[in-house]
Amino acid sequence: MTDNIKGKVVAITGASSGIGEATARRLGQAGAKIVLGARRFERLERIAADIILTGGEALAVDLDVMDRGSVDAFAETAISKFGALDILVNNAGVMLLSPLAEVKVDEWDRMIDVNIKGVLYGIGAALPIMQRQGRGHIVNVSSVAGHRVGPGSAVYSGTKFAVRAISEGFRQEAGPAIRSTIISPGAVTTELPNHITDAKIAEAAKAMYSTAIDADAIARAIEYAVTQPANVDVNEILIRPTAQQ
Ligand code: NDP
Repeated sequence: MTDNIKGKVVAITGASSGIGEATARRLGQAGAKIVLGARRFERLERIAADIILTGGEALAVDLDVMDRGSVDAFAETAISKFGALDILVNNAGVMLLSPLAEVKVDEWDRMIDVNIKGVLYGIGAALPIMQRQGRGHIVNVSSVAGHRVGPGSAVYSGTKFAVRAISEGFRQEAGPAIRSTIISPGAVTTELPNHITDAKIAEAAKAMYSTAIDADAIARAIEYAVTQPANVDVNEILIRPTAQQ
């Protein structure tokens, strides 16, 4: 038996494209109340409008996960608009792969700020609310790159290893009423690799992404994790294309 998602309030960071968008659409159609956050507000509004058109409830919120105040306001919006925050999906992320020798410090900083600090700000905003409610579930999106490192992925992998470490610590500390799930995808067809500035690595990424799976495959994994009975904590799902090593 699954715990029905209908009526649950789900806040998703990075909901303007890719995995976040697919998750918003899937859980919105299943009857959850969705709070969509990202910087590209018009895209969020379009996705929220689509969810509402199919009979769901959704709200677009301007969010920059690098800004702690913005993340706090995002979580509070779930409360003011829908009266609860049942599930937070810390999904926003950037993958700016490059060899360390290129010393792209701005890109290192951005990955650390979005992928690690953004997740921590999300936990910092949601945990007190969930403790007050006596229930909650945080889903953190890591990666296959959070399990292994390749050339060019030292910093990105470092951030995704960190997401897994933080999630495990959260799981141990949060207590039995609050669940946590790590989602670790392999190659998924999204805008993620488009921002790589290193020409060689961008080319290699193109080859790897030729066999990528679609974002809804990851949304289905998230749906599985958040629809289990309240005493079942799906700790991690590692999911990749059959063609990926
Ligand atoms: P996309 O590039 O399609 O989505 C990334 C999302 O993050 C966008 O909605 C973007 O919104 C948001 N984002 C980026 N920076 C910020 C910020 N400062 N504040 C708020 N939102 C931000 O890629 P994916 O859907 O693939 O990425 C989602 C997650 O999945 C990431 O954590 C990524 O690392 C992870 N992942 C993806 C894999 C893949 O192969 N695609 C594999 C493994 C993990 P906006 O620009 O509008 O702010």
